[in-house]
Amino acid sequence: MTCPVCGKATVQRVRPFCSKRCADVDLGRWLRGDYALPSRDPEDIERAAIELDRPDPETH
Ligand SMILES: [Zn+2]
Repeated sequence: MTCPVCGKATVQRVRPFCSKRCADVDLGRWLRGDYALPSRDPEDIERAAIELDRPDPETH
């Protein structure tokens, strides 16, 4: 399996992505509505935003 964002090999910890950064990129696209969503429930989006706010040692 490869990262859907950049095409590198998937890392188990952040699969299906290769890194937390790519996971954030993908989530950012999701939040902006680039993807067709089965649900636009505001609670779901808020939950996703909370995920984004987690501390990330790779980017700090
Ligand atoms: Zn990637």
